Amino acid sequence: MKTNRTFTMIKPDAVENGHIGAILAKINEAGFKIVAMKMTQMSRRDAQLFYAIHAERPFFQNLVDFMVSGPVVAAILEKENAVADFRTLIGATNPADAEDGTIRKLFATSIQNNAIHGSDSDDNALIESEFHFATREIF
Ligand code: GDP
Repeated sequence: MKTNRTFTMIKPDAVENGHIGAILAKINEAGFKIVAMKMTQMSRRDAQLFYAIHAERPFFQNLVDFMVSGPVVAAILEKENAVADFRTLIGATNPADAEDGTIRKLFATSIQNNAIHGSDSDDNALIESEFHFATREIF
């Protein structure tokens, strides 16, 4: 289903390094409207479920350890073509490959500690949004 919404998390590395404000500014400047937002810390179970698609990958345990290591800022963003445009704004998974000016180029420190999550499809945006937010928290 096409929703013009995507889901994001500012990851524990970027929260710890003090980049919440700068990242939200980039998101606003790029024309995204914030329709839900909260600071929260995922449990191990949450992180394992959220990244279940990567369960067989060699980096899975490290990824889960990283994602539960501190709070994240979760948000739902609205804009025409939100999923694709947000993936462009955040840049490649590995910051070494990310375009100049992208959030990961600016704030990520490694392929794992890459500052921010962005949904990869409209279907996953909806699943991930509902994973983190109750209906009454979405505006
Ligand atoms: P994304 O859609 O760009 O976030 O990338 P993926 O869905 O492929 O991977 C999910 C997350 O797993 C990434 O954002 C990274 O935090 C982490 N990750 C991806 N590839 C690697 C890797 O090769 N090593 C490690 N340690 N983490 C990785």
